[in-house]
Amino acid sequence: MKEKGVSKEEIKQILDDAKRKDFDYADGKILSSMCTPPSDFSKEIWGSFIETNLGDAGLFCGTKGLETEVIGILGDLLKHKDARGFLVSGGTEANIMALWVARNGAMREKPEFIVPETAHFSFEKASDLLNMKLIKAKTLDDHTVDLKDVQRCINDNTVAIVGIAGNTEYGAIDDIEGLGDIAIENNLHLHVDAAFGGFVAPFLEGLGYSEKRFDFSIPSVSSITIDPHKMGMSPIPSGCILFRDRTFLEHIETSSPYLTEKKQFTIIGTRSGAAAASTYAVLKAFGREGYRENVRNCMELTMRLYGEIKRMGFEVKKPVMNIVTFDHDKINMIAEKLTNNGWAISRTRKGEIRLVIMPHVKSSSIDNLIRNLNEINNALKRI
Ligand code: PLP
Repeated sequence: MKEKGVSKEEIKQILDDAKRKDFDYADGKILSSMCTPPSDFSKEIWGSFIETNLGDAGLFCGTKGLETEVIGILGDLLKHKDARGFLVSGGTEANIMALWVARNGAMREKPEFIVPETAHFSFEKASDLLNMKLIKAKTLDDHTVDLKDVQRCINDNTVAIVGIAGNTEYGAIDDIEGLGDIAIENNLHLHVDAAFGGFVAPFLEGLGYSEKRFDFSIPSVSSITIDPHKMGMSPIPSGCILFRDRTFLEHIETSSPYLTEKKQFTIIGTRSGAAAASTYAVLKAFGREGYRENVRNCMELTMRLYGEIKRMGFEVKKPVMNIVTFDHDKINMIAEKLTNNGWAISRTRKGEIRLVIMPHVKSSSIDNLIRNLNEINNALKRI
């Protein structure tokens, strides 16, 4: 650090230069991200709560009240108003917390948990941090977990099973009801990772798409991850973990003697109150209607893109959510050409191209992408 401070103008110049090197959501070329620009209203609110700390909630009772309201609204969305939980930094932290609760609640010497092989890599981190063995269950053709294989993976050390409502690579929703039956039979914690799908799945049926139950209406669901900073339109970092009731939290209670509240239940100590205020603002401003419209727009573009990709002869399955994943025997070449044309795309573990159609992706972007894919496809046919 230099002895003397630098002028604000000089600093702003450096910051502007740095930002210019970033991709810009407004260009409509980011098709790899599960995040999107937050709503303008939530951005406006963020600044006024910037100094609030939910880790010392006695000092910020008003902001803590907003977090409680957010938990209530999200519990209601996921069909259990009385759910208890916290705003956290994102899906990774929420998933780790769920397994932390499951591990401490079960008290096995060598705890294990089962995830679908499609699970997000945050579960690898959870496994390592919590010293829990991670077992991957096979998936079916539709990318949902194979219940028979989950049964097969269970043993005396199993403490939890995880189902995904909107998996990262395909957007598929596991058979959570089926997993629920297995959880009851074997007395296991059932965690649902709806980090992405939590703000999508509840609105699909009302829009004429098929919906699968995935939430607390299934009695054996113990906890759910849902991320406001993905399809919830709230600023990063806004994740959320919900537990069915308070008894789950007791397994991770830590005393915090020098703070205004003498107990904590989160991994992180100092937590952003701005996340609570901004998430509250966007949830209230949007209402169910606003989120339904958001999902409607994303799904319409997704289905148009899917139809065109199918027509071009690529290997593609009908999307369940706003993710289109496709394959081709020259997939590496296609990915390279798309990247060279400025598209930010991503690849699945198997190498397929994965496109996430978030609210920042507009109809004109999809038109451009389809045109580009057609050109690439025609060029491939001439090779
Ligand atoms: N779970 C799922 C299904 C996800 O798709 C993601 C991220 O994309 C995560 C968890 C991790 O979320 P975060 O990156 O906010 O930690």
